[in-house]
Amino acid sequence: MNPSSPLLPVLAAAPIAPDPGAAAGVPKVFLETFGCQMNFLDSELVRGRMAERRYAFTPRRDDADVIAFNTCAVRDHAEERVRARLHELKRAKERRPGLVVAVLGCMAQREGEALLDRFPHVDILCGTREFGRIDALVEAVRSGGGPIVALGEHDPLPDWKRDLSQRPHRHSAYVTIQRGCDRACTFCVVPRTRGPEVERTMDDLEREVRALVADGVVDVTLLGQIVNAYGRKSGGDASLARLLRRLDRVPGLARLRFVTSFPTLLTPDLMQAVQDCETVVSYLHLPVQSGANSCLRRMARGYTAESYLRLVDRLREVAPKVELATDVIVGFCGESDAEFAATAELMRRIEFVQAFIFKYSVRPGTAAEKLLPDDVPLAVKEARNQELLRLQEAIQRRRNRARIGALERVLVDGPSKRDRTVLSGRTSANRIVHFRGDAALIGQQVDVRVRDATALSLSGDIAAAAG
Ligand code: SF4
Repeated sequence: MNPSSPLLPVLAAAPIAPDPGAAAGVPKVFLETFGCQMNFLDSELVRGRMAERRYAFTPRRDDADVIAFNTCAVRDHAEERVRARLHELKRAKERRPGLVVAVLGCMAQREGEALLDRFPHVDILCGTREFGRIDALVEAVRSGGGPIVALGEHDPLPDWKRDLSQRPHRHSAYVTIQRGCDRACTFCVVPRTRGPEVERTMDDLEREVRALVADGVVDVTLLGQIVNAYGRKSGGDASLARLLRRLDRVPGLARLRFVTSFPTLLTPDLMQAVQDCETVVSYLHLPVQSGANSCLRRMARGYTAESYLRLVDRLREVAPKVELATDVIVGFCGESDAEFAATAELMRRIEFVQAFIFKYSVRPGTAAEKLLPDDVPLAVKEARNQELLRLQEAIQRRRNRARIGALERVLVDGPSKRDRTVLSGRTSANRIVHFRGDAALIGQQVDVRVRDATALSLSGDIAAAAG
């Protein structure tokens, strides 16, 4: 997986709302989240824990008694933003010694106590398997303890404590089915920050999805670092295919998604379940990372370009409704012109509906950092990144324009970010669609006749409410 793929921008970008019930004297938390969907769900869990202790939330740092950053370690850029925030807080902490500063999640896990050496004004390091006791850690610091380093295994699956009232969206929700990763792709820091795979039971997951749907959710995204590994840890009859078939029968659920899949674990069973289940969307995120076998070997991905292409052919045969998205890394250690050209060729051949293209950056503690030189110059990485972005843009523009005149079923997410008088929603293949309509339609499905298209989105007119 590439854990920072902006797959669901509407959800991921949503601000955490201030707590309208915050009374004077109630301690307030400012919580900022970086990174992937799983981090946003973890922040929801943190909110639940803090709300249980009667903390309120504020969107303003100046106003807060507790400032917490839920961090991402996948790229240096994400960590740099957190470091900048921590620098800014030095003065605030001098002025207000009672202020609690907490670093949560992947960066805390990766850096450990070295982060406290650099930022001694940080009070709490809370790792990825400790979210469930963040409230107790904050209380301990506020009663005079600290700094506290909690980077153990206290709570590898905190999800069962979820407080449904804390979710930021009425109609859409994330549900973690699996955390951690047992693979060891050489570029990836996730196995180190998130630990080994752990998973929830199908009964537990069905209970949670039913409770969410009863509370107004129609759109559920199942999350896992390697989501289609689901079932292999617990043994028995659990598998992602079986889980999809079970959840597909939950009355009232309109859309079911899952991210992110690993190519070698895409079984025929899972392909068939995707095709058969009416609620499962026609969108599959299947990171390829490179189109060159030599590069894939250095990444330790465990497949070749040919086997990936065969998988795609098989998928398109079994599940013709599916459109594919991917992640690509350019400028990985030793990437030659020929290897880069093979990636571009694979992208031309498959024509992904979306591709998230990243310039390689070394992550401390990975096999690539230890064994492979980061020898592709930054200017070359940049040029290759731009070339693939142009290629993908041309593919998306052509494929989106082919939708002009078609009727698309769209789940209405909310007002468009650019023009608040226009609504924005997503098709089953995750295409963004803009159209005029009443805000009362948010959370419902409508049929939209596509009038125009760019590389990034479609626009059109509502033809009918689809229920
Ligand atoms: S190690 Fe590989 S499979 Fe596991 S999270 Fe990282 S990129 Fe995905």
